[in-house]
Amino acid sequence: MTSDDAVLPAGLPRQHAPENLLQQYGCGPIKFNGSNNALYERHLLFDNALAPSEAGNRERYEAAARSVRDILSQRWQQTEQVYSRENPKRIYYLSMEFLIGRSLSNNILNLRLEPLVGQFLKENQLDEWAILAEEPDAGLGNGGLGRLAACFLDSMASMQLPGMGYGLRYEYGIFKQTIVDGWQQEQPDNWLRRPDPWEVARPQYAVAVELGCSFEVRGGSLKAITGKPSKLLGIPYDRPIVGYGGKTINTLRLWASATPDSFDFQEFSAGEFVGALAECLTAETVTRVLYPDDSTSMGQGLRFVQEYFLVACSLADLIRRFRMNDSNWNSLPDKVAIQLNDTHPSLAVAELMRVLLDHAGLGWELAWDITNRTFAYTNHTLLPEALEKWPLQWFELMLPRQLQIILEIDRRLREEVAARWPDDTSRAERMSIVEHGGRLVRMAHLAIVGSHSTNGVAAIHSRLLRDVTVRDLAELYPERFNNKTNGVTPRRWLLLSNPGLASCITNAIGDRWITKTDDLQRLKPLADDGEFIAAVRGAKRQAKLRFTEWLKSQGGIQVDPDTIFDCQIKRIHEYKRQLLNGLRIAALYNRLRESPHSDMPSRTFFFAGKAAPAYHVAKFIIKFLNNLADTIDGDPVARGRLRVVFLPEYSVSMAERLIPASDVSNQISTAGYEASGTSNMKFMMNGALTLGTRDGATIEMAEAAGEENFFLFGLTAEQIAASQGWYSPWWHYENEPETHAVIDLILSGHFSRHEPMLVDALRNILLAGGDTYRHLADFVSYMEADLRLQSLYAKPEDWTRKAVLNLASSGRFSSDRTISEYASEIWNAKPCPVL
Ligand SMILES: *Cc1c(COP(=O)(O)O)cnc(C)c1O
Repeated sequence: MTSDDAVLPAGLPRQHAPENLLQQYGCGPIKFNGSNNALYERHLLFDNALAPSEAGNRERYEAAARSVRDILSQRWQQTEQVYSRENPKRIYYLSMEFLIGRSLSNNILNLRLEPLVGQFLKENQLDEWAILAEEPDAGLGNGGLGRLAACFLDSMASMQLPGMGYGLRYEYGIFKQTIVDGWQQEQPDNWLRRPDPWEVARPQYAVAVELGCSFEVRGGSLKAITGKPSKLLGIPYDRPIVGYGGKTINTLRLWASATPDSFDFQEFSAGEFVGALAECLTAETVTRVLYPDDSTSMGQGLRFVQEYFLVACSLADLIRRFRMNDSNWNSLPDKVAIQLNDTHPSLAVAELMRVLLDHAGLGWELAWDITNRTFAYTNHTLLPEALEKWPLQWFELMLPRQLQIILEIDRRLREEVAARWPDDTSRAERMSIVEHGGRLVRMAHLAIVGSHSTNGVAAIHSRLLRDVTVRDLAELYPERFNNKTNGVTPRRWLLLSNPGLASCITNAIGDRWITKTDDLQRLKPLADDGEFIAAVRGAKRQAKLRFTEWLKSQGGIQVDPDTIFDCQIKRIHEYKRQLLNGLRIAALYNRLRESPHSDMPSRTFFFAGKAAPAYHVAKFIIKFLNNLADTIDGDPVARGRLRVVFLPEYSVSMAERLIPASDVSNQISTAGYEASGTSNMKFMMNGALTLGTRDGATIEMAEAAGEENFFLFGLTAEQIAASQGWYSPWWHYENEPETHAVIDLILSGHFSRHEPMLVDALRNILLAGGDTYRHLADFVSYMEADLRLQSLYAKPEDWTRKAVLNLASSGRFSSDRTISEYASEIWNAKPCPVL
């Protein structure tokens, strides 16, 4: 290449010209490639001392990512400059998890650099997929909660809201899953082994965090030393969050723990070499690993330290920023909104009070008012095992001042309750922050009492939270309770992951839907347009072929793209009922065994998901699903008709590949247990039909699309709750022939020869243990819904028509809609455009 013009892709409209793209990002004279000065080649040469011809895919990935970062860095810096100048109200999203996945393809897309990158790849004959695949998923989360935080960051940046994410820079993210002999095995996810091109360390903004005790590593575990205060250092690492169109680039700031040098040094000079080293080890241990539990709290000391560490670092940082512009503490709630993503960061309530009382010197009433107006809390689950309660002892040991403050908050709360309900003496006990008998601190109560807003994540969930789970608190503060139904970003989950369908949509209605997803409504009339239906069918076919090819390249699994792709991909949990899906598949297989020539459509069932390493029942479920897959695969009667595939290592990147290729989305949790779900929304946007229970956001999705376009089944949350006390799985086993047959088949060991342990576990979950999650109560109606689905599939036009009607109604489930509700109803925050 000899001139700038040579990088211009032919036939693109003027505003998409690569030159102009780069100018828009302040990179006028810099070229992406093609000369000694080109970004990409410079990175290869100066970062890796390589010529382009010598580079492997990893080096190519790094150079490409660094080039994209160069392009966005001016805009990134400018965004912060505009915020400092305009001093808008800032939104801080505090979360222990951000499940961001890969960044290169997403950043190219949001910067709208695809024409330039496409041209570059072509000219250099580079394999785009091979290069993108070199980026490890940033797996800093377990599942839905962490992914929500990532979608919210995308939406805030795309809507030009001055939002910032605060989290932890875990050295090890969610573990890698392999399947050995059908069982899940965990391996550490050392995602930072190679330098990460996206992060920028900012040691100049390091924060010191004080704890009331010290720690030592003794015999491999963490031991606290009482009465010897210690300090941790928090080092911020920033990642750019590119808004769609590349105008606003917000920041995700992740904290890494370190030992303060001064502390170390004294110990060294005293000759306590080993002691100092142990101390150092301890400090760095804090952000070493993400806890791999989803919707459960294991109550471990290190997790408690992690939570406080996130809170202390983030508050110190945002207060420093606030104080640069505002000297009056009173205006904190006008300038700062802090959203607590679940109770994990709810220690922030006590920490902000500590700062306002001890550093700002404010009186209690004023400090409390400021704190209340600053915080808002999002609840993510009603499962009792997920509600965090920390031992009072740990506060005494590590956070004595924060404990004093919590006790005073609790005293005042009890007083208020006693004054309001003088005759109801047990009420204060139920509502208190400190559980009297157990000497435990209820973090959800602290979050609700210390903030002005408590929201659930789907209508049914918010209602149950208010009317059942924390009813007493909702009676005291009714105005605080509200709903914010979750959403997902249509940029990553449709535009990026499903280019075929995205261009079908854009060809039909233009591209406004990318940022105004309500526009998808305009597809509704096209549900009866033969040409559009054919285009959508073509896009689905293309996505299935793409996925099938990829799967084949990953170790040779071959699936038939002409079968129905029927998916359940999510964390493995009893309440999500992967086992109910397993029962359905076993029953379909049994039908096939009985009438091998039935006209049942051919299907491929996909499962993917991780089980928490200590969640034994969930690991049994994985083993059962793998056995089911092997048995069916080995049975000639099922050949070409039924196939079960358990895909190991579920991740954001895998979801991006599989969801576009799916025909059926299983959302089959026991009603009342799934707070919202978000994969249900991703499937809906990608033209899959939902087979689901009336739970979480699935209820609202069916309402939006019309129940006639959904395959709903099963008991409602009210019916499930009412079944407490009299429900028996045995009744279903004894009175329903197909239930009886399928349970017998499973318990006969048909899917688990020589594994009596597994059969025992299944008998216990489904029958002997009382079937807590009501698998058998919903089994027959699941099979009925499945039958309706099968007959629709026989009419391809009707099937796609419903898929289009679903897609057309999916706009509500964009995280842009969710964020605009948070912004106007909770944060009172407005966009701050970066022009
Ligand atoms: C969307 C998503 C989830 C959440 O899935 P649910 O089915 O709503 O629980 C979990 N993990 C990943 C990787 C996701 O992309």
